[in-house]
Amino acid sequence: MLQVHPILCRAGVMNNYAYLIIDEPSKISAIIDPSEAEPIIRKCKELQVKPQYILNTHHHFDHTDANLELKEKYGSQVVANIKDSERIRGFDIGVEAGKTFAIGKSVAEIIDVSAHTQGHILWYFAKDKVVFTGDTLFNLCVGGLFEGTAEDMFAALQKIKSLPDDVLFYPGHEYTLQFAGEALSLAPSEELIAYIKRAQERLSQGLPVAPVSLGIEKKCNPFLRAQNLTELKQIL
Ligand code: ZN
Ligand code: FE
Repeated sequence: MLQVHPILCRAGVMNNYAYLIIDEPSKISAIIDPSEAEPIIRKCKELQVKPQYILNTHHHFDHTDANLELKEKYGSQVVANIKDSERIRGFDIGVEAGKTFAIGKSVAEIIDVSAHTQGHILWYFAKDKVVFTGDTLFNLCVGGLFEGTAEDMFAALQKIKSLPDDVLFYPGHEYTLQFAGEALSLAPSEELIAYIKRAQERLSQGLPVAPVSLGIEKKCNPFLRAQNLTELKQIL
């Protein structure tokens, strides 16, 4: 069993999400994409955990900036794509696409989704039905193409679409409402209207929109709805 605790970082500026994950019953824990140390340390104190690992989805500063501070404070090991060993702060352990990495009994499959950056990975806990998508998949949107092409993004999205509908996804930023209007204008539907209403309610209560199931996201996110590269290119 994997507990997932979203932690809003750079609130009101970049609205990153870091995640504290705790494997039950071993209590082995990890931080995913530590953007900012202070809110993460507060959450770790509250739950009385010392994260053994820091897992990164990609090298951008807004996902790795607190790697070194947390590593020093907790003695955590930084785990990231071996291909990013030179540009991930505090890199310790390399993982490879197609292989796995275990946090206690919770096992993550590493999926390469190079497009937003080369070497961007998903952390997919198949048994727990949870996937951390970094800056590849956001609610109702996808990440920008900093180091990849539309073809790369299409291939990445096919990998995400191949995951089961009941998997819950956790993105690297809270961007839902920024893209809601565009999603509505591209493909209005009852489901999308309900999605946006729920998002507004969650945010007004100070809660993250995540998690949303991939099944719902596949129906509502215009980038996942694109059936081929041409359709994707029209909206990227
Ligand atoms: Zn990024
Ligand atoms: Fe980011």
